[in-house]
Amino acid sequence: TENTLPTIDWAKMDNLVPAVVQHYLTGRVLMVGYMNEAALAKTLETGQVTFYSRSKQRLWTKGESSGNVLALVTLGTDCDNDAILVQARPKGPTCHLGNDSCFDDSRNQPFLNTLAAIVAERRNATPESSYTASLLNGNPRRVAQKVGEEGVEVALAAATNDRENLIDETADLLYHLTVLLEQQQVPMAEVIDRLSQRHR
Ligand code: AMP
Ligand code: ZN
Ligand code: ZN
Ligand code: ZN
Repeated sequence: TENTLPTIDWAKMDNLVPAVVQHYLTGRVLMVGYMNEAALAKTLETGQVTFYSRSKQRLWTKGESSGNVLALVTLGTDCDNDAILVQARPKGPTCHLGNDSCFDDSRNQPFLNTLAAIVAERRNATPESSYTASLLNGNPRRVAQKVGEEGVEVALAAATNDRENLIDETADLLYHLTVLLEQQQVPMAEVIDRLSQRHR
């Protein structure tokens, strides 16, 4: 982390700018707070995300009493220097209600949900125009068979240390799994929920 103050247009913002904190690995938005110049400086000095609390009317290091601090990974400003985006490693649940995030958006895991939405849209496409549509409208066993084949191809790529092939085959597998879930009417969000429940 660079220990330098980014350029903020403090005057324009009445000395308080919104700071969006996201998980440094997943990109999930954890919370939003406000920073003044002292809060930003303290965040950079200590490596622990610190806000200016308007209710407490003082600097507030997130986790100062709960221990659920946000370890700074990196931060930056937006295009016109009136907002801050912080990437952090949370040391516990960020929300004081005990949730990982203050926002109830665990169903919005970016990539797989986007892919699932695209695949679902293809249900109505013509099989000639879309491979996905041909899978969804064809013999249901074909999709299950593809998942099995792609799984084996992933295993083979790993066994032969073929990195490029491993990436391709993993992409094939994730795609066909997504089609299978759509065919079986199992929302991707339920799978993601199940995964995240195992880490509570
Ligand atoms: P903490 O900073 O985690 O020690 O929590 C101290 C107090 O700050 C809590 O009792 C809440 O009032 C408040 N607080 C903690 N986390 C949040 C949050 N994510 N958003 C808003 N208020 C919070
Ligand atoms: Zn802006
Ligand atoms: Zn919260
Ligand atoms: Zn393949």
